[in-house]
Amino acid sequence: MEKKLAGQIAIVTGASSGIGAGVSKSLAAAGATVVVNHPVDATAQAAEEVLAEITAAGGAGITYRCDVSKEAEVQKMFADVVAKYGTVDILLNNAGLQRDSPFQDMTLDQWNFVIGVNLTGQFLCAREAIREFLRRGIVPERSRAAGKIICMSSVHEVIPWGGHANYAASKGGIMQLMKSIAQEFAPYKIRVNSIGPGAIKTPINHQAWDTPAAEKKLLELIPYNRVGVVEDIGAAAVWLASDDSDYITGTTLFVDGGMTLYPGFSTNG
Ligand code: NAD
Repeated sequence: MEKKLAGQIAIVTGASSGIGAGVSKSLAAAGATVVVNHPVDATAQAAEEVLAEITAAGGAGITYRCDVSKEAEVQKMFADVVAKYGTVDILLNNAGLQRDSPFQDMTLDQWNFVIGVNLTGQFLCAREAIREFLRRGIVPERSRAAGKIICMSSVHEVIPWGGHANYAASKGGIMQLMKSIAQEFAPYKIRVNSIGPGAIKTPINHQAWDTPAAEKKLLELIPYNRVGVVEDIGAAAVWLASDDSDYITGTTLFVDGGMTLYPGFSTNG
């Protein structure tokens, strides 16, 4: 594989499982040194296993425990990474979770927890990344941009999701967070984009695909007729982080097999 991200330092949040783990491996295969972030001691082993796969494939990185919803922890993670590697070039704002509930029963704790990780966590990490990109500026031998932020959003930044109002609100919020930062910092050659996954096989949604009946029902929502895999997201992340997408900022790239085409409205078949 061509090393389009050679010499660049990437922080991937929530990287001990699912999409974050997959994206970490894809970025490392493209030459980036990857900080495999995970939130708590209980996720350390899984993060080490992701890093072991990266190094076994010839890549490089470290694991780093940090709860992205905690300001002091996020600031320490960026400071430690800059102290170790000199800078950060790519932020993959991926950490996210669900606490689902019928709206009338949703507790304030469920609301705050999801917004705290999914939206505030992306704000805190993006702010530290922007500060570092502004401090460092462009390093032409690494990238034409002064830094790249990729926010993991969802098709639910545009598709409403009853029973998941906290999650959908967090993803709708990410859309405007991403666009606003992209607008503010384009003059500084900082690019900010989102990936909007559809249904990707990971632990967060296993009940939606882990039986044949569940997968059949899920496929009714996916015109391309297959459930996504983390490599689909990894390829998009490498492209958005590389100079191949140098003229792209403020955009959500949906990687969803057509889920946002509202297949229920098709009159064909
Ligand atoms: P996942 O549960 O495997 O991954 C989420 C990761 O976030 C976990 O590794 C978890 O440890 C980490 N995390 C949770 N709280 C954290 C915190 N406070 N600080 C740091 N890390 C924390 O699920 P996934 O599907 O890989 O989800 C990754 C992202 O992709 C999420 O933002 C999710 O909303 C988004 N997404 C997933 C799908 C899908 O179909 N799987 C679809 C759309 C969007």
